Amino acid sequence: MNKQLILALSKGRILDETLPLLADAGIHPAEDLGSSRKLLFDTNLPNVKLVVIRATDVPTYVQLGAADLGVAGKDVLLEHGAEGLYEPLDLEIAYCKLMTAGITGSQPALARRRVATKFVNVARRYYAEQGIQAEVIKLYGAMELAPLMNLADEIVDIVDTGNTLRANGMEPRELIGHISTRLVVNQAAMTMKHDQLKPLLQRLSDAVASRRMAES
Ligand code: AMP
Repeated sequence: MNKQLILALSKGRILDETLPLLADAGIHPAEDLGSSRKLLFDTNLPNVKLVVIRATDVPTYVQLGAADLGVAGKDVLLEHGAEGLYEPLDLEIAYCKLMTAGITGSQPALARRRVATKFVNVARRYYAEQGIQAEVIKLYGAMELAPLMNLADEIVDIVDTGNTLRANGMEPRELIGHISTRLVVNQAAMTMKHDQLKPLLQRLSDAVASRRMAES
């Protein structure tokens, strides 16, 4: 029986790097994802459909089986917890770093530190591991503003070039982790849909490997 597979893609920055990788793996959406308002797309592979959703929702869709597999940043997976998900493949795209950052030249507060971030779970874990007392404040965007407005002493955020930080008078401090985009698979689907998943995982891992070869 040819069971359907739903692949959940993260919208935004990651999507721009995911689509060329999917193309390298021979997976082509039936229509242009960028210009459509649709969220569910057929592909050239008769048993594979794509959904395009918020990056932070991808682990939830895959964990609960609404999607069989998904493309998600390691930052999102660390924050979500991603229990019940397999992470079989590093897609080696959208590299960045999770870091702490503060106002350039300022000293990190020695006593209780106020930390603004959207990665509250990652931040709580990190400061606890460092033995630093931290009050973690959840924000949904524009983290760089928080220290400038005296809402926080420090932020935890994604850093790529560091330009966003510098443009706001801030500097990166400690590295929490290197981030790249991962393929995640629902654990039940891995067993129940193994015959459909295996060739798809193979296509993707071959595409990642041949890109790596081309770069070296
Ligand atoms: P930059 O100014 O190059 O350090 O980029 C920092 C901003 O870009 C951050 O605020 C992030 O929200 C975003 N960003 C950079 N890389 C990624 C990525 N791989 N995934 C998601 N967001 C990213």
